[in-house]
Amino acid sequence: MSAGERIEGHCLCGAVTITLDDPKHEVEICQCAMCRRWGGAFYAGQTGASFSIAGEDAITEYRSSAWAERAFCSKCGSNLWFRFLPTGNRSFSAGLFDAAASHGIEKEIFADERADWCRLEGDHPRQTGEEVIAEAKAAGFSFD
Ligand SMILES: [Zn+2]
Ligand SMILES: [Zn+2]
Repeated sequence: MSAGERIEGHCLCGAVTITLDDPKHEVEICQCAMCRRWGGAFYAGQTGASFSIAGEDAITEYRSSAWAERAFCSKCGSNLWFRFLPTGNRSFSAGLFDAAASHGIEKEIFADERADWCRLEGDHPRQTGEEVIAEAKAAGFSFD
């Protein structure tokens, strides 16, 4: 039996810690206006095969739209995760994990909504908001 890779992250104050098993070595960037308002620039999502969360008492979840929820630490304000409600899938804020600082970019979504000062280098795939929504609808999700 071989042990998989495990990375640990925590919020600014340390009240919440998140452990990810078999993390992807790439993050997904969202440049939509909601993510910019939420985090100040763009959102970088880190996922893994499984996760555990400690510090539930300090977590506030905010229903940001009909299909999504965002969570943050009630003590220090660090953003913790984005959850897509139709699937229940979460992506965790990449900034929580020191190890994620060296990860690449899987793709950049809502690239057409980015702020002028949020240009990211590289030739990773970029999708407009329209393309992301069309892809999600084709996969059976509804946003109406
Ligand atoms: Zn905190
Ligand atoms: Zn977004």
